[in-house]
Amino acid sequence: MADVFSKSFTQQEAIDEDTIARVTDILRGGRLHRYNTNPGESSEAALLEAEYAAYQGVKYCLACSSGGYALAVALRASGVKPGDKVLANAYTLAPVPGAIHNTGGVPVFVEVDDNWHIDVDDLAQKAASSGARHLMLSHMRGHIADMDAIMEICERYDICVVEDCAHTMGARWKGTRSGNFGRVAAFSAQTYKHINSGEGGLLTTDDEEIAARAIIMSGSYMLYENHGAAPDESVFAKVMLETPNYSGRMDNMRAAILRGQLLGLDENVRRWNGRYQMLERTLRSSSLIEVSERAQHEEYVGSSIQFKPRLEKAGFDVLVDRCAARGVDVKWFGGDEPKAFTSRYDSWRYLGEQAPLPKTLAVLGRTCDMRVPLTFDVSDCEMVAKIVVEEVAQVANQHSL
Ligand SMILES: *Cc1c(COP(=O)(O)O)cnc(C)c1O
Repeated sequence: MADVFSKSFTQQEAIDEDTIARVTDILRGGRLHRYNTNPGESSEAALLEAEYAAYQGVKYCLACSSGGYALAVALRASGVKPGDKVLANAYTLAPVPGAIHNTGGVPVFVEVDDNWHIDVDDLAQKAASSGARHLMLSHMRGHIADMDAIMEICERYDICVVEDCAHTMGARWKGTRSGNFGRVAAFSAQTYKHINSGEGGLLTTDDEEIAARAIIMSGSYMLYENHGAAPDESVFAKVMLETPNYSGRMDNMRAAILRGQLLGLDENVRRWNGRYQMLERTLRSSSLIEVSERAQHEEYVGSSIQFKPRLEKAGFDVLVDRCAARGVDVKWFGGDEPKAFTSRYDSWRYLGEQAPLPKTLAVLGRTCDMRVPLTFDVSDCEMVAKIVVEEVAQVANQHSL
């Protein structure tokens, strides 16, 4: 009998007892709203902002309701107006085109390369031809592109870079934290990301006007003094009356959960990478599976893994089904219909007809993806990867390239 893996790919770790106690105190106190503080007290949300700004090494941080919300506010606060073009990777998750659409912006999708990075040549071409003033750069599935090349292109055309760091919280590239390359960055604290409060988002920047606008947009009324990493009063005075309130605040319970998790983030990055490296090594033992080399200077967080089985298209659904029958949840980005989180630029029909992106479709046509939950241990990861290796070998008998 072939081994069947029995743990869940969607199971998170428990929230630690200290955090549960803190959240219980907040519940007992009844002051759940971030601006409902006693005199002289900082709210949990404000404390989280101060702590995350320190972790990230930036001046300003806003805690808000979701990663997608943080993205939309980041775009608006950095000046995107209805009708403006926004460059964006063609391989990303649905909240990204959604955030652009939310601002009234019009996405201009850029190809991705073989390693799921935004394609630098296509970016250079579209930066020159599109007239876009913004790039929404997703570090999709944690893969950080050549940031020197990207920043050089964006400086040349005066393009403001907004980083989507949903999969790179805690990661660095050539020593700089992901999120600190562009003018503003957005992070997610949704259950499947690197810190988990169920829902939640963080926006970071060193730009005082973007920070002030983002804080007002998030629904601070005139209570912006009650923030943990905000610019001076004088900056708010400049923007406050011309900035709308798009309520999307974080509450104190979520902030308390995230404060607890932030303390363990770097340790969890190490734990993710130990699991990732076992998966990578075991998948690579098969000559039928490609797992890309990552740059030496990319300090990634291995919270998911991508790999390319050498199979013809018809083999991928068979592989996904065979792995599922053995308890292994493999996603394939090449299907014609979006499933779970695998939607593709050509499935966002509300954006209208998009120019074909053959390179992206070719890469995604071979891209398989697995989550790496911390509730797996390293030996679980070895077992999961062995099952994938065995099933790819089986499927290759009928469907090899
Ligand atoms: C999760 C995610 C977001 C934002 O997510 P929310 O669910 O809104 O917190 C943005 N970009 C990517 C690539 C994501 O995976």
